[in-house]
Amino acid sequence: MARCLLVLPLVRLLFLAFTMALAGCTARPLSATSVAPLASHVEVPLHLYVGVNRRGPVVTPEMLGEWVGQAATDFAAAGFSFEVASVQYVPAASIDARTRRGRRGLAELGAGDGVHIAVAGPLRRPRKRATTRGSWLPRQRVIVLSTEANRTTLSHEIGHAFGLEHERAAKNLMCSCDRDPQARFSELQLAQAATAAARWQR
Ligand SMILES: [Zn+2]
Repeated sequence: MARCLLVLPLVRLLFLAFTMALAGCTARPLSATSVAPLASHVEVPLHLYVGVNRRGPVVTPEMLGEWVGQAATDFAAAGFSFEVASVQYVPAASIDARTRRGRRGLAELGAGDGVHIAVAGPLRRPRKRATTRGSWLPRQRVIVLSTEANRTTLSHEIGHAFGLEHERAAKNLMCSCDRDPQARFSELQLAQAATAAARWQR
Protein backbone atom coordinates (compact mmCIF):
# COMPACT_ATOMS: atom_id res chain seq x y z
CA MET A 1 0.00 0.00 0.00
CA ALA A 2 2.79 2.43 0.99
CA ARG A 3 4.53 1.63 -2.26
CA CYS A 4 1.36 2.46 -4.21
CA LEU A 5 1.12 5.80 -2.46
CA LEU A 6 4.65 6.61 -3.59
CA VAL A 7 4.14 5.41 -7.13
CA LEU A 8 0.95 7.35 -7.79
CA PRO A 9 2.48 10.87 -7.48
CA LEU A 10 5.41 9.66 -9.59
CA VAL A 11 3.06 8.49 -12.33
CA ARG A 12 1.28 11.83 -12.16
CA LEU A 13 4.58 13.71 -12.54
CA LEU A 14 5.63 11.57 -15.47
CA PHE A 15 2.25 12.14 -17.10
CA LEU A 16 2.65 15.89 -16.59
CA ALA A 17 6.15 15.85 -18.10
CA PHE A 18 4.90 13.80 -21.03
CA THR A 19 1.92 16.05 -21.77
CA MET A 20 4.17 19.11 -21.60
CA ALA A 21 6.67 17.57 -24.00
CA LEU A 22 3.75 16.77 -26.29
CA ALA A 23 2.44 20.32 -26.05
CA GLY A 24 5.90 21.60 -27.01
CA CYS A 25 6.00 19.31 -30.06
CA THR A 26 2.54 20.06 -31.34
CA ALA A 27 2.41 23.70 -30.25
CA ARG A 28 -1.26 23.22 -29.35
CA PRO A 29 -2.78 24.27 -26.03
CA LEU A 30 -3.90 21.39 -23.84
CA SER A 31 -7.51 21.24 -22.75
CA ALA A 32 -7.11 19.79 -19.23
CA THR A 33 -7.67 22.40 -16.54
CA SER A 34 -6.58 20.90 -13.25
CA VAL A 35 -2.84 20.32 -13.00
CA ALA A 36 -1.05 21.54 -9.89
CA PRO A 37 1.69 24.15 -10.53
CA LEU A 38 5.25 23.05 -9.79
CA ALA A 39 6.24 23.76 -6.21
CA SER A 40 9.91 24.73 -6.67
CA HIS A 41 10.74 28.43 -6.61
CA VAL A 42 12.41 29.95 -9.67
CA GLU A 43 13.63 33.53 -9.90
CA VAL A 44 13.65 34.85 -13.45
CA PRO A 45 15.83 37.89 -14.17
CA LEU A 46 14.18 40.68 -16.17
CA HIS A 47 16.24 43.11 -18.24
CA LEU A 48 14.42 46.31 -19.16
CA TYR A 49 15.38 48.62 -22.02
CA VAL A 50 13.69 51.99 -22.03
CA GLY A 51 13.77 54.03 -25.22
CA VAL A 52 14.75 57.68 -24.94
CA ASN A 53 13.70 60.25 -27.53
CA ARG A 54 14.04 64.04 -27.66
CA ARG A 55 11.42 64.40 -24.93
CA GLY A 56 13.12 61.92 -22.60
CA PRO A 57 12.31 58.33 -21.59
CA VAL A 58 9.16 56.99 -23.31
CA VAL A 59 7.82 55.45 -20.09
CA THR A 60 8.04 56.43 -16.45
CA PRO A 61 9.56 54.11 -13.83
CA GLU A 62 6.07 54.05 -12.22
CA MET A 63 4.50 52.60 -15.39
CA LEU A 64 7.22 49.98 -15.67
CA GLY A 65 6.84 49.17 -12.00
CA GLU A 66 3.10 48.69 -12.44
CA TRP A 67 3.53 46.31 -15.41
CA VAL A 68 6.23 44.24 -13.69
CA GLY A 69 4.27 44.17 -10.42
CA GLN A 70 1.17 42.89 -12.20
CA ALA A 71 3.19 40.19 -14.00
CA ALA A 72 4.72 39.14 -10.66
CA THR A 73 1.20 38.80 -9.21
CA ASP A 74 -0.11 36.90 -12.23
CA PHE A 75 2.74 34.37 -12.19
CA ALA A 76 3.15 34.06 -8.40
CA ALA A 77 0.98 30.94 -8.18
CA ALA A 78 3.35 29.17 -10.59
CA GLY A 79 6.03 29.25 -7.90
CA PHE A 80 8.36 31.71 -9.54
CA SER A 81 9.09 35.39 -9.31
CA PHE A 82 10.75 38.10 -11.34
CA GLU A 83 13.77 40.09 -10.37
CA VAL A 84 14.54 43.32 -12.25
CA ALA A 85 18.21 42.61 -12.93
CA SER A 86 18.90 45.71 -15.04
CA VAL A 87 17.29 48.83 -16.50
CA GLN A 88 19.03 50.50 -19.43
CA TYR A 89 18.11 53.71 -21.22
CA VAL A 90 18.86 53.50 -24.96
CA PRO A 91 17.99 55.61 -28.04
CA ALA A 92 14.36 54.74 -28.90
CA ALA A 93 15.17 54.32 -32.62
CA SER A 94 17.74 51.61 -31.82
CA ILE A 95 15.04 49.28 -30.37
CA ASP A 96 12.02 50.26 -32.51
CA ALA A 97 10.47 46.93 -33.64
CA ARG A 98 8.87 48.62 -36.68
CA THR A 99 12.21 49.16 -38.42
CA ARG A 100 14.92 46.78 -39.62
CA ARG A 101 17.54 48.68 -37.67
CA GLY A 102 15.43 48.46 -34.52
CA ARG A 103 14.88 44.72 -34.92
CA ARG A 104 18.63 44.21 -35.32
CA GLY A 105 19.14 46.18 -32.12
CA LEU A 106 16.52 44.06 -30.34
CA ALA A 107 18.22 40.84 -31.44
CA GLU A 108 21.43 41.96 -29.75
CA LEU A 109 19.54 42.49 -26.49
CA GLY A 110 17.94 39.04 -26.49
CA ALA A 111 21.25 37.19 -26.75
CA GLY A 112 21.85 37.18 -22.98
CA ASP A 113 20.20 35.28 -20.10
CA GLY A 114 16.80 36.13 -18.65
CA VAL A 115 13.76 37.83 -20.15
CA HIS A 116 14.45 40.99 -22.16
CA ILE A 117 11.78 43.67 -22.41
CA ALA A 118 12.07 46.76 -24.61
CA VAL A 119 9.81 49.82 -24.77
CA ALA A 120 10.50 52.25 -27.61
CA GLY A 121 7.16 54.03 -28.04
CA PRO A 122 3.89 53.13 -29.79
CA LEU A 123 3.94 49.96 -31.91
CA ARG A 124 1.38 51.19 -34.45
CA ARG A 125 2.58 50.81 -38.01
CA PRO A 126 2.16 53.69 -40.45
CA ARG A 127 -1.36 53.91 -41.96
CA LYS A 128 -2.69 51.25 -39.55
CA ARG A 129 -5.08 52.34 -36.87
CA ALA A 130 -5.10 49.14 -34.82
CA THR A 131 -3.14 49.34 -31.60
CA THR A 132 -0.54 46.72 -30.81
CA ARG A 133 0.08 46.80 -27.10
CA GLY A 134 2.92 44.34 -27.04
CA SER A 135 4.64 41.56 -28.91
CA TRP A 136 6.93 38.59 -28.28
CA LEU A 137 9.57 38.37 -31.00
CA PRO A 138 10.71 34.72 -30.99
CA ARG A 139 13.59 35.29 -33.41
CA GLN A 140 15.03 38.13 -31.37
CA ARG A 141 13.91 36.51 -28.10
CA VAL A 142 12.69 39.88 -26.88
CA ILE A 143 9.37 41.22 -25.61
CA VAL A 144 8.50 44.62 -27.00
CA LEU A 145 5.93 46.68 -25.16
CA SER A 146 4.13 49.62 -26.65
CA THR A 147 3.75 52.79 -24.65
CA GLU A 148 0.04 51.96 -25.14
CA ALA A 149 0.40 48.70 -23.20
CA ASN A 150 -2.12 48.10 -20.43
CA ARG A 151 -1.86 46.37 -17.07
CA THR A 152 -2.08 42.83 -18.47
CA THR A 153 0.10 43.22 -21.58
CA LEU A 154 3.41 42.21 -19.99
CA SER A 155 1.90 39.10 -18.38
CA HIS A 156 0.46 38.07 -21.76
CA GLU A 157 3.79 38.53 -23.57
CA ILE A 158 5.80 36.73 -20.87
CA GLY A 159 3.25 33.94 -21.31
CA HIS A 160 4.26 33.74 -24.99
CA ALA A 161 7.95 33.84 -24.07
CA PHE A 162 7.28 30.81 -21.86
CA GLY A 163 5.55 28.95 -24.68
CA LEU A 164 1.87 29.66 -23.98
CA GLU A 165 -0.57 29.87 -26.87
CA HIS A 166 -3.62 32.08 -27.28
CA GLU A 167 -6.89 31.23 -25.54
CA ARG A 168 -10.37 32.43 -26.49
CA ALA A 169 -11.83 33.36 -23.10
CA ALA A 170 -11.49 37.05 -22.21
CA LYS A 171 -10.99 35.97 -18.59
CA ASN A 172 -7.76 34.22 -19.57
CA LEU A 173 -4.56 36.28 -19.75
CA MET A 174 -3.58 34.55 -23.01
CA CYS A 175 -6.65 35.87 -24.82
CA SER A 176 -5.60 38.05 -27.75
CA CYS A 177 -8.61 40.24 -27.17
CA ASP A 178 -9.90 43.00 -24.98
CA ARG A 179 -9.12 41.06 -21.81
CA ASP A 180 -11.17 41.15 -18.66
CA PRO A 181 -9.33 43.31 -16.07
CA GLN A 182 -9.55 40.30 -13.71
CA ALA A 183 -8.08 37.91 -16.31
CA ARG A 184 -5.91 35.09 -14.92
CA PHE A 185 -3.79 32.17 -16.13
CA SER A 186 -5.21 28.67 -15.74
CA GLU A 187 -3.43 26.18 -13.47
CA LEU A 188 -2.25 24.25 -16.50
CA GLN A 189 -0.79 27.39 -18.09
CA LEU A 190 1.02 28.22 -14.85
CA ALA A 191 2.48 24.71 -14.71
CA GLN A 192 3.63 24.98 -18.33
CA ALA A 193 5.11 28.44 -17.73
CA ALA A 194 6.94 27.29 -14.59
CA THR A 195 8.60 24.49 -16.54
CA ALA A 196 9.69 26.90 -19.26
CA ALA A 197 10.83 29.53 -16.74
CA ALA A 198 13.22 27.05 -15.15
CA ARG A 199 15.03 26.88 -18.48
CA TRP A 200 15.36 30.68 -18.61
CA GLN A 201 17.08 30.84 -15.26
CA ARG A 202 20.84 30.41 -15.03
ZN1 LIG B 1 -0.57 37.16 -27.94
